[in-house]
Amino acid sequence: MTEASAHCYLIALGSNRRVPAVGRPRAVLDAAVAALAEKGWQVEAVSRWIESRPLGPSLRRYANGAALIAGDLDPPEALESLQAIERSFGRERRGQRWRSRTLDLDIVLWSGGAWHSADLAIPHPAFRERDFVLRPAAQIAPHWRDPVSGRTLRQLAQGGLPSA
Ligand code: ATP
Ligand code: CA
Ligand code: CA
Repeated sequence: MTEASAHCYLIALGSNRRVPAVGRPRAVLDAAVAALAEKGWQVEAVSRWIESRPLGPSLRRYANGAALIAGDLDPPEALESLQAIERSFGRERRGQRWRSRTLDLDIVLWSGGAWHSADLAIPHPAFRERDFVLRPAAQIAPHWRDPVSGRTLRQLAQGGLPSA
């Protein structure tokens, strides 16, 4: 066994464009998991891929999923690492948010709790409203508790607000 990692992250993966030489969105997500491992992340768990409707202006359907990764990078370094992988899959950062993209890697939760800096917010501010994030996330980490709402991923995925 390797030594325990300093940080664990729950990552949301999404793709709604083929990548030449990789293939359709599901293949892009498979390749993204391989890229995480190549970059030195310990990939602890990967959800099944699901299909979801696009958010915003793009019309292409998404493949979405979640992964649990562990490593020694702190949150800003982890974001860097994920963005480098996005770029290696041809993701362009120009233009509008939510445009069609080859690969999107978001940090949903972090073992250290909450993080807020100019370009990084953990927990991801929108994840509680996104079924396509919650369903795969609850599959691999049902008992992980959102530090903001106090709800587990399973509870959030099942929907509804806590009873008073
Ligand atoms: P959304 O964040 O609503 O899912 P998006 O993924 O399409 O939208 P991007 O264009 O990929 O948005 O990212 C915009 C910026 O969001 C990134 O450059 C990054 O600095 C910032 N960001 C803030 N919090 C996070 C997070 N938890 N994970 C990933 N990126 C984040
Ligand atoms: Ca996103
Ligand atoms: Ca993103």
